[in-house]
Amino acid sequence: MKRLETNIGSWQAFPCDAPCPLWLRICLTLPLAIALASTVACAKGTSANAANAAPNSELKSQSTAATPAPETAPSAAAAPDNAPLPHIDAKRAFQYTREVTAFGERYMGNENHKKLERYIIDHLKGDQVEDDAFTADTVEGKFPVRNIIAKFPGTKDGIIVILGHYDTNYPLRNTGYVGANDGGSSTAILLEYANQLRGGAAGKKRDGYSVWLVWTDGEEAVKTWSATDVLYGTHHLAEKWEKDGTLKKIKALMVMDMIGDADLDILRDTNSAPWLLDLIYAAAERLGYQSHFNAYEADIQDDHIPFVKRGVPSADVIDLDYGYHNVFHHTPQDTMDKLSPKSLEIVGDTTLETIHLLDQR
Ligand SMILES: [Zn+2]
Repeated sequence: MKRLETNIGSWQAFPCDAPCPLWLRICLTLPLAIALASTVACAKGTSANAANAAPNSELKSQSTAATPAPETAPSAAAAPDNAPLPHIDAKRAFQYTREVTAFGERYMGNENHKKLERYIIDHLKGDQVEDDAFTADTVEGKFPVRNIIAKFPGTKDGIIVILGHYDTNYPLRNTGYVGANDGGSSTAILLEYANQLRGGAAGKKRDGYSVWLVWTDGEEAVKTWSATDVLYGTHHLAEKWEKDGTLKKIKALMVMDMIGDADLDILRDTNSAPWLLDLIYAAAERLGYQSHFNAYEADIQDDHIPFVKRGVPSADVIDLDYGYHNVFHHTPQDTMDKLSPKSLEIVGDTTLETIHLLDQR
């Protein structure tokens, strides 16, 4: 059991009961929260203020991830251009979420997980697909882990990686937990990205960087979140990509997690590269979605961390305010009725626009 304490008055830390794969530490004081609430519609403009706000040093010191080196970061957001704004098929993405969730609990290696693996692979027919499969030795025994990678080659030298986990929590098996938002929405949005990226004639490269989509496995803890019981898939993948030289080619990496909440509030994760968050927020602003990309900051431990630790410019796109005080997170209440196609559309369009902005660099 881990419950984070804060000294910020009525602005409480979100409950994060074991097994929690994400440590959230709110770095706001109550007055600042009030101040930000009044300026949230201009997220990009207020982000610098939030970043400069005095954090709770005790909580901050618990952070395990380093902020990526700013000297390697590109400068300000790309200048506006006349390219058409992207538009995902949100209805289809929502239907994917429904179908993924309908498999039920999907912890590493169980039958539903295997069905979901086949479901993902079936949607990637004709695409360049690779596996990163291995056996994880955990406190609960051995589990098969399988990251599924779809590659969409581009004309530019470099790779943009989008990650989203598809497993659900082993400790929540037999509780009725189906992870519609946590695991379902991330799986589905990546399937829709594949639809958007493949377009054009077979074998034709996209005009920009290569984009690799990774459905990650073993994101959740098998017992209780700790340095050794979490992020099984991405720890393995980051190590593998470090050895084979792939990491050096990654221009940007973005994680999608819990992005289907009908009440969508994306936060600024303090472990993410600030320039990449700025670019995502600039993309959201172009689309008129800026009110969903908030200025408040939190220390989020998610699938980007193994890459952040290796110096890859990374960002976590996550809404960890799922229900009042995050009450639906990791509970059987994480069901389809809490989600909306609009939220998938907001995150989906913003991510595709971010890819477009990255391509311009
Ligand atoms: Zn989770």
